[in-house]
Amino acid sequence: MISVAIVGSGPYALSLAAHLNPLGVDFRVFGPCMEAWDKHMPPRMFLKSDGFASDLYAPGDGYRLEDYCAEYGVPYAPVCPPVKRTTFVDYGMEFQRRLVPQLEQTMIVRVSQIPGGFELETAEGELVKARRVVLAVGISHFPYLPKVLSGLSREAVSHTFHHSDFLKFRGKHVLVIGGGASAVNASVALNEDGAETELMARASKISFHDRSPDFRPLLDRIANPRSVIGLGWRSKMAVDLPLVFHAMPEKLRHRVVKRHLGPAPGWFSRDGFEGHVTPHLGCELQEVTEAGSKVRVRYTDANGSTREMLTDHVVAGTGFQPFLKSLKFLDAKLADKVRTAAATPDLDSNFESSVPGLHMTGLASANNFGPMCRFACGAKFTAKRLSAHLGRVAKRDPKRVALQPKLTVAGGYTPEPERELETVSR
Ligand SMILES: Cc1cc2nc3c(=O)[nH]c(=O)nc-3n(C[C@H](O)[C@H](O)[C@H](O)COP(=O)(O)OP(=O)(O)OC[C@H]3O[C@@H](n4cnc5c(N)ncnc54)[C@H](O)[C@@H]3O)c2cc1C
Repeated sequence: MISVAIVGSGPYALSLAAHLNPLGVDFRVFGPCMEAWDKHMPPRMFLKSDGFASDLYAPGDGYRLEDYCAEYGVPYAPVCPPVKRTTFVDYGMEFQRRLVPQLEQTMIVRVSQIPGGFELETAEGELVKARRVVLAVGISHFPYLPKVLSGLSREAVSHTFHHSDFLKFRGKHVLVIGGGASAVNASVALNEDGAETELMARASKISFHDRSPDFRPLLDRIANPRSVIGLGWRSKMAVDLPLVFHAMPEKLRHRVVKRHLGPAPGWFSRDGFEGHVTPHLGCELQEVTEAGSKVRVRYTDANGSTREMLTDHVVAGTGFQPFLKSLKFLDAKLADKVRTAAATPDLDSNFESSVPGLHMTGLASANNFGPMCRFACGAKFTAKRLSAHLGRVAKRDPKRVALQPKLTVAGGYTPEPERELETVSR
């Protein structure tokens, strides 16, 4: 039985693994590298997070996006212009090759509890036993469809997460639902890929982010300090004090995560949207049904009048909700034991659920540690804290066979001095 199994292969899993390697913890990490970014986002998308806030993390100086860009001659700026999705994917893959070479690029299809730990099953049928499991599965299992869009066929309704490009909709009419970044990005990409695209949202306007000015006067910088999740003291505190956030009352935490930093689209998507995508704002969906090869959408418009639209396809840009029940690969008996708050996992200050040894990171941890866990930058705090905890626990474990020898990694950082190998008979 290994000490730790990490399920996931995005910024959080890779940063955690890069922190565990020099600690000598025996762990395995599973998942297709950077898959959510590579296969489930619009092709020509830019990141909303600035360059300096779009790193993966390793101990010491790590291997930052800036280092990758300098090495490969890719244009980089800490704040503007924005980072291309493709650059972030390539960077993540290079980070993995250098710092997490042991990543096993397969899916985990089942996690169940066994005496003393957990059993994981890979897509190939291998059974892996681990004393602890970290679920760093990001957004993959959490696409959210409101009730009015549920229960229809995939031909009629899909979620933005189901697409990497929209070429199959060339020449078709597509309605995108939502007014945030996912919906606007998808509608821009649909239009660029040749679909006749309209967008429908409850909001009365699309609130694009403002472009960061190149120069900010000192007083403005004091009043609105810059943090990895944006400008302002509230954002800065959310980044600097995640454990204080964790100690706040549950209802307050959930409210802050819901309200702080809405899903506003980046300033750079405005040009591709305005004049290209037809918006229907202030609208409320009433009923969506399949009508032959078309989809009938009944809605009330901004004046309260009921209207109907026939479209070839509806794309839901309705975001992601980390409901525990959406983790279908978790054995039902195990899932039932995980305490939740508002249907999302309730975690202690070491990212551990009410099932001892079962940890969760990223979006699934946001209601516990704050809004930064919705972004890649939250991996810094998470990897540091969780790796220290897992390192301590692995060292105490009486059944441990051995600490792993130090993993030598190419470039990036110098691992901590090697610890003595300990051997304990099973
Ligand atoms: C349209 C859009 C734009 C965004 N823009 C930004 C941005 O600009 N900046 C930012 O910081 N964040 C952005 N985000 C949020 C982004 O998703 C997170 O910041 C980031 O991906 C979190 O990293 P993660 O490791 O938690 O998850 P993910 O990146 O989602 O990675 C999870 C990985 O786990 C793998 N996995 C899932 N299930 C299993 C399984 N059962 N077995 C094995 N592997 C599994 C997946 O294949 C995936 O590779 C955006 C999100 C969306 C949808």
